[in-house]
Amino acid sequence: MSVKVFINRTLNMRKIKYIGLDMDHTLVRYHSHAFEELSHKTMCEKLVSQKHYPEAVRNLPFHMDLAIRGLVIDKKKGNLLKVSRHGAIRASYHGTKPIDFQQQQKLYKSTYIDLSDSHSYTAIDTAFSLSVATLFAQLVELKDAEGRDTMPDYDTISHDVVEMLDLSHRDGSLKGEVARNLEKYIIKDPDVVRGIERFKQHDKKFFIVTNSDFAYSKLLLDYAINPFLKDHKDWTELFEYVVTLAQKPRFFWDNLRFLKVDPVTGSMTNYDEALRPGIYQGGGATKFAKDLGVEGDDILYIGDHIYGDILRLKKDCNWRTALVVEELDSEIENYKKAQPCSAEIRVLMDKKEPLEKILVDQITAKLNPEKTQRNRALPICKIKFLKSIRRFHR
Ligand SMILES: [Mg+2]
Repeated sequence: MSVKVFINRTLNMRKIKYIGLDMDHTLVRYHSHAFEELSHKTMCEKLVSQKHYPEAVRNLPFHMDLAIRGLVIDKKKGNLLKVSRHGAIRASYHGTKPIDFQQQQKLYKSTYIDLSDSHSYTAIDTAFSLSVATLFAQLVELKDAEGRDTMPDYDTISHDVVEMLDLSHRDGSLKGEVARNLEKYIIKDPDVVRGIERFKQHDKKFFIVTNSDFAYSKLLLDYAINPFLKDHKDWTELFEYVVTLAQKPRFFWDNLRFLKVDPVTGSMTNYDEALRPGIYQGGGATKFAKDLGVEGDDILYIGDHIYGDILRLKKDCNWRTALVVEELDSEIENYKKAQPCSAEIRVLMDKKEPLEKILVDQITAKLNPEKTQRNRALPICKIKFLKSIRRFHR
């Protein structure tokens, strides 16, 4: 698999001493379709058995292409929204059906979506929440269907779906299934291991900070890393420090205690001394960087969650960061495919602009003949000057 790196700030890799990695969807990637389908099925089962949703919910099919990361759930209105970086609504769906532009204008007028308003909106910002958006849309549709007054309001539906996903993560229903079928859910990528070993040959050190627990982390790392090691025997040699159940983003601003994990038995003991290479649970970034004996900007941390891995870290620590965006692959492909069309649009825009100007001049002359007369009387150099100012302001 080819990997492309985009930068928005210069990063001098010579300055970087430690490279930190998130585990899920960063160091270890998932077959997302299979995993989201599993999450969707598990949530449906739990909604029926624990929240008494109609039996029909059990049979809702999973469609991976119903949602993408970056969407926003409008919990009050039962809609899925695609918003611009400024929070303006670009497209909207009610259930799984698109809302036409006029209806959207009527519903939202000049609303700008404020994601800090968690009573009204939920952002679909992790790869683990695609199934949430899909299921929410399907349940809204089911509720709207005739005779579905046995279901709660949209707001409660959105709450129930998220609650069932959290429960599925907590009670082991998802992890248990992944553990039984690693091949189905986890991607094995020898290039990742090769890349880390190459960096280590150039004296870079590695650590993992993951929100997953030790047992699950070990399971995935044994499966996805160990078979491809050439210069090391086990992933524990590859990563100087592994911090499990880190509770990111809290890890970056709080000072929770570290627990030491015994890699053989998985048992934990309190640990208040300076950190030494090994496996830990919990803790906080400040002590971590201090005990590593490095400055924050000697660390490059790579993660896939914009809030959990990157934004909070940027606010509280001065570690350097890199964000993994798996969707960029297909986005760039689509961007390339759209190039001929974009070029055609540019040519047409170049033709359209002078035509627009002629039209505006004609309308102005009709509406305001006196002013036009005055402009005509201006010396040519002054007209040129005024035009250049107008162009500058555009
Ligand atoms: Mg992750």
